Amino acid sequence: MAVRITEDCIACNACEPECPNNAIYEADTPYMYGGEEKEALSEEFTYIVPEKCTECVGFYDEPQCIEACPTEAIEMDPDNEESQEELMAKKEKLDEIGRD
Ligand code: SF4
Ligand code: SF4
Repeated sequence: MAVRITEDCIACNACEPECPNNAIYEADTPYMYGGEEKEALSEEFTYIVPEKCTECVGFYDEPQCIEACPTEAIEMDPDNEESQEELMAKKEKLDEIGRD
């Protein structure tokens, strides 16, 4: 599954540079997917793009953003459950279309 950011976020953005998939964006900032700019998913909180989060599969053993967060504001998203195979397929798609 992808991970998500909760209301415990203090918008420090320590997580953003840790993401190997460029899946984390500041509040009210458009995100990039396949070279296209998309509307921000949150105007209030730092957010994670589910289509770009692989739980760090393909790069690291553990989600890097969760380790970086000082307020434990990042959790697994039960609404976005995916198998290891699905996560790896997502990673490979991002390899093809790019992460910006
Ligand atoms: S590291 Fe945690 S508190 Fe900081 S922006 Fe990311 S989710 Fe929010
Ligand atoms: S779990 Fe990994 S891929 Fe997903 S948002 Fe966090 S750092 Fe990025």
